[in-house]
Amino acid sequence: MKVIPIHPAAAVPVPASEPSSGNDPDGLLHDRRGRSVRDLRISVTDRCNFRCIYCMPRSVFGDDYPFLARSDLLSFEEITRIAQRFAARGVRKIRITGGEPLLRKHVENLIEQLARIPDIELTLTTNGVLLPRMARRLRDAGLDRVTVSLDAIDDATFRRMNDADFPVASVLEGIEAASAAGLGPVKVNMVVKRGTNDAGVLDMARHFRGSGHIVRFIEFMDVGSSNGWKMDEVVPSREIIERIGAEYPLDPIDPHYVGEVAERWRYRDGSGEIGVISSVTQAFCATCTRIRLSTEGKLYTCLFAQQGYDLRALLRGGATDGALDDAIAHVWRGRDDRYSEIRSANTAGQRRIEMSYIGG
Ligand code: SAM
Ligand code: SF4
Ligand code: SF4
Repeated sequence: MKVIPIHPAAAVPVPASEPSSGNDPDGLLHDRRGRSVRDLRISVTDRCNFRCIYCMPRSVFGDDYPFLARSDLLSFEEITRIAQRFAARGVRKIRITGGEPLLRKHVENLIEQLARIPDIELTLTTNGVLLPRMARRLRDAGLDRVTVSLDAIDDATFRRMNDADFPVASVLEGIEAASAAGLGPVKVNMVVKRGTNDAGVLDMARHFRGSGHIVRFIEFMDVGSSNGWKMDEVVPSREIIERIGAEYPLDPIDPHYVGEVAERWRYRDGSGEIGVISSVTQAFCATCTRIRLSTEGKLYTCLFAQQGYDLRALLRGGATDGALDDAIAHVWRGRDDRYSEIRSANTAGQRRIEMSYIGG
């Protein structure tokens, strides 16, 4: 059966709000669980040149898939304006994502505009294949770092995962280009799916040991409604650490900051570090400070949100900065999400926004 993902329709207007009285006394904005908004993820396209089986399965995202029209996308000026308002509300990190963000035409112009916002760390997540020709431009535009996704070091497995016949070599070239352009150390994300690519976990660790790049093993998540997620296909991070640690002894290291999503481990022999992201087996909702802006300007307070708030309508309706600030404050202050903590049989059948639309 072909699943029709909930896609642009799943958005509501931002509710009318009282003018907000500015940020809270500590200068930040807090949700109903006391979490402040620090991290903005911006999806710049819902399109991709890959068809990763866990993200955009070809059976759903086929040739006739109704991707967004160009006029629906936020312009770079609109994105920058929203980002500036979030920065005023306490956001300190911006990640550009998608879909495949490097497919968005002249994305370096957006980077250049965002890089002018003071005190912001600016990063981008990509499948890497366009980095050889774009890394230098992105760096020159002001990008600080990239994260590159790579789900296997074995070519046949990787081609099966991306389902678009891209070889591992094309991503490795991208990682090297990023590093050479000064966008490193590169974080390399591997989503681990039991029975599909988990046999390659050790090879992946071995390949990047001593390279200066940091591999992060991510538990396969039930995001979206089309990837056929099953709990028994999740490989718990504990198991990953045990498998790698048995071959190369590992020691835990402190997080860089409170709320860091990846748990960090260091090779005892000094040849670098790895990370694990345990979104399923050890939920980190209690410290989740992330908000997501979709390709067409809807705001989502959780990766598993069932609805977004329509900021584009406000923007295009001529909202002042003050009105945008109020809308952002209203949405964040009402936030109560903690999906990963309450994931259960009851949440299994919910229809959710696709990862490629909301941004990973
Ligand atoms: N196309 C870019 C890429 O692949 O890096 C950026 C967008 S992608 C949606 C962002 C990240 O989400 C990738 O690292 C991808 O592996 C991860 N991802 C997508 N679907 C996932 C899932 N079901 N579970 C865990 N991670 C997922
Ligand atoms: Fe594309 Fe990234 Fe999703 Fe793979 S994970 S299909 S590269 S958006
Ligand atoms: Fe944050 Fe939602 Fe993920 Fe929990 S489930 S960590 S609230 S995005």
